[in-house]
Amino acid sequence: MAKVAAIKAETYDEQVVELAMQTLLDELGGISEFIKPGDKVLIKPNMLEGLPPDKAVTTHPEIVRAMINQVKGAGGIPLVGDSPGVSSTLKVAEKCGILRVCQQEDVELIPFNDKVEVPFAQGTTVKKFVLAKAYSQVDKVISLAKMKTHSFMGVTGGVKNLFGLMVGTDKAQFHLRMKKRSDFAGMLVDLAQVVKPVLYIVDGIIGMEGHGPRNGKPKQANILLGGTNGFAVDLVMAEVMGYKGETMPVAAKALSLGLSPRMKDIEVVGSGRNIRLEFAKPRNLESLDNKLPAPVVDFFQNQLTARPVIVDCCIACGRCAAHCPPEAIRMMDNKAVIDYQKCIRCYCCQELCPADAVKLQNGLLLKLIRRWK
Ligand code: SF4
Ligand code: SF4
Repeated sequence: MAKVAAIKAETYDEQVVELAMQTLLDELGGISEFIKPGDKVLIKPNMLEGLPPDKAVTTHPEIVRAMINQVKGAGGIPLVGDSPGVSSTLKVAEKCGILRVCQQEDVELIPFNDKVEVPFAQGTTVKKFVLAKAYSQVDKVISLAKMKTHSFMGVTGGVKNLFGLMVGTDKAQFHLRMKKRSDFAGMLVDLAQVVKPVLYIVDGIIGMEGHGPRNGKPKQANILLGGTNGFAVDLVMAEVMGYKGETMPVAAKALSLGLSPRMKDIEVVGSGRNIRLEFAKPRNLESLDNKLPAPVVDFFQNQLTARPVIVDCCIACGRCAAHCPPEAIRMMDNKAVIDYQKCIRCYCCQELCPADAVKLQNGLLLKLIRRWK
């Protein structure tokens, strides 16, 4: 039976987090179960963008510190790295506080610039990945994620966090190739099988609700989650957030492939095992993919998903246009304008907008079907 540890922790005070991390790992058998002396360990936090920790966009620096100390305690050599959605690893790490922790703990921060090809013949969606070279230069990977909502994937936790192992704009290429939610989820399932982190930890002391993963509201959840099966950890995380975990796209895909246990088959242990909250849902949480025949979904893909709409608070920074995978956004008269014929509903624009100026709006057909269903 898969085990997920759920530990209560109410603040990011250094001692509180250290103790919670220690308790969590003890529930799983102790860090030495996963890290051996001399192991080079890549700790992969969520560093989506350079924002202060209280915005709850990135993994809190004290969670990173606690894991660094655990790895060191087991005789391992910790390294910290990520490829942010915007800007450089160094700048993002500086703003979100992770650089300071790396400096204080004398740990190398690795920008993901160089790449390595990783064939994956058994992949059900992707047969070859191109990942950050750092991945091939370490012995172990630990996913150190943030508990957040996600417009495209419903939630983002330990598995989605691995998407940051793709370097810079390579991420956009996957959005172009995997337009359907279930295909993108399949890619993430394959990615988890390739990377095989020895541990998945989710920072839910303060998570994010609503318009995640960037523009939602911080939500105090007082929980640290962890386990060795990332699908199980994320399932428990989604349930804690008040969602039906098994219906999330990544969970549904992993379940269909026999890679994830059902919620009823997961043993949740620890002081936080009964925590259940109600996180405000992202606009586009409920996909109709599973409620209608596949050919209908394929044909009406754009009508059946919410569309991004630019609202008046757009500050014309151009970030959405620069990151839109199919180049569906142009800047006109000091405002971003979307070409809906080109838009593939990936929501990268909503994810990255610094002014929260991209709202998701259901089309008429979607509204009608929701009423009828
Ligand atoms: S919609 Fe957001 S990201 Fe796009 S130009 Fe306006 S403010 Fe910038
Ligand atoms: S307009 Fe937004 S949702 Fe549409 S393809 Fe571009 S980034 Fe994705």
